[in-house]
Amino acid sequence: MSEKSPNPFSRIPAIDKVLVALEKESGLPPLPQPLITDLVRQSVESMREGVKAGRTNIGEFADSVAVIRGEIERLYRSRIHPVINGTGVCIHTNLGRSPLRKEVVKAIADVGQFYNNLELDLETGERGRRGGFLEVCLAKVCEAPAATVTNNCAAALILILKHLANGERNEVIISRGELVEIGGGFRVPEIMEASGARLVEVGATNKTSLADYEKAITPRTGMLLKVHRSNFFMEGFIGEPSTEDLVALGRAHGIPVVEDLGSGAIVMTESVAPIPHEPTAAEVLNRGVDLVCVSGDKLFGGPQTGIIAGRADLVAGVKKEPFFRALRCDKLILTAMQETVMEYLRCGPGTRPDLPLMTMLSASVEEDLRPRGEAIMARLAAAGGYDVSLVDSVARCGGGTMPKAEIPSLALDLRPLQLSVDRMAELLRKRELPVMGYITDDSYRIDLRTVFPGQDVVLVESLLAIQ
Ligand SMILES: *Cc1c(COP(=O)(O)O)cnc(C)c1O
Repeated sequence: MSEKSPNPFSRIPAIDKVLVALEKESGLPPLPQPLITDLVRQSVESMREGVKAGRTNIGEFADSVAVIRGEIERLYRSRIHPVINGTGVCIHTNLGRSPLRKEVVKAIADVGQFYNNLELDLETGERGRRGGFLEVCLAKVCEAPAATVTNNCAAALILILKHLANGERNEVIISRGELVEIGGGFRVPEIMEASGARLVEVGATNKTSLADYEKAITPRTGMLLKVHRSNFFMEGFIGEPSTEDLVALGRAHGIPVVEDLGSGAIVMTESVAPIPHEPTAAEVLNRGVDLVCVSGDKLFGGPQTGIIAGRADLVAGVKKEPFFRALRCDKLILTAMQETVMEYLRCGPGTRPDLPLMTMLSASVEEDLRPRGEAIMARLAAAGGYDVSLVDSVARCGGGTMPKAEIPSLALDLRPLQLSVDRMAELLRKRELPVMGYITDDSYRIDLRTVFPGQDVVLVESLLAIQ
């Protein structure tokens, strides 16, 4: 006869005892108590389920507390907080796209913690236009008669479609080469249909002619839509009508032409970094397009917004759409956008605006990155723990913009002596200020272009702490 094994349920810790034990722990993340209590309850419950199913082997009480503490830390880490971007991807959608300049953040703090004139006309003391000043600035920087902002570029496109493609004229003509997926489940055809527009696809994936558009025009056509290929490129046997020809066709039939620019540069990208030219809102509007929509947190370098710019009557019409109210921006975002666009206007054409994204894109490998890299390397070499070198790397714009643009850059190449690179990556992700680099072969790389110079010291501290 075998010995009677102890009742496995008796090892399941009591919720209140775990809570008391956690209170005594030092360095527990400052997670609000209701969340901790829920986590303890869920963890104990799943231990019970595990025992019932004969899966879980429950250890000592202290082990159970440690497991639960791990859950608390995991939940705490999932809150939004700063991360060091060592990926070399400047506009990283997973890392919050464009960082904001300090003055922008200061303006957000001022507007956020006090009252403000969001919808107050200080001249009359009456109700004022929300974001009126920002609209003037955006129109100026886009060289457009009028402009406004929405929650993001997807929202901007939906609003434009709602306004221009509805009722008797709900058809939107678009080239098959532009029915793209932007990422994160955002597919142009799906957005269009969700907005109530009827898609009329013309041409072939690689070639669409002006005649294709022309043949598709009917009395039901509401607009001609061009979608900028911002996240992929086509090469080889390709063709499409020029924007000018498309505009002329639209004019001849009294149909507005709209371009979804997505990435939307304001500056001449080729003057900022060794990258191709990305069309600007002003260029596209100057070719006669009636409306453009542009993302605020891609190459624009501001907060998440969508800019709509172009013909004054159309912008005014879009703003009157009932949906506009649901997709409008908050005061903090409007403030951030206002300060960002003022920086563009202050610096004028031909000068690089003082925005973190522009500083990163334009940093010189030899003058800016290498001296920083050498200083970091010297500190790491003195401490041991890594085989470390500086290697040439390739940084990218990212965020679904300019897929062909490769920016020469410089990376720390780290081979940990005591850890696997996977473990190293995990430990860096779990730091209080997490670090995201990338793994190539058997080394861990941190691209210095996307690390703020002010973060070098804490980066070294993290690398030393985990080795
Ligand atoms: C990124 C992108 C969008 C979506 O912009 P969000 O601001 O993220 O909503 C739309 N169209 C194009 C062409 C894009 O590149």
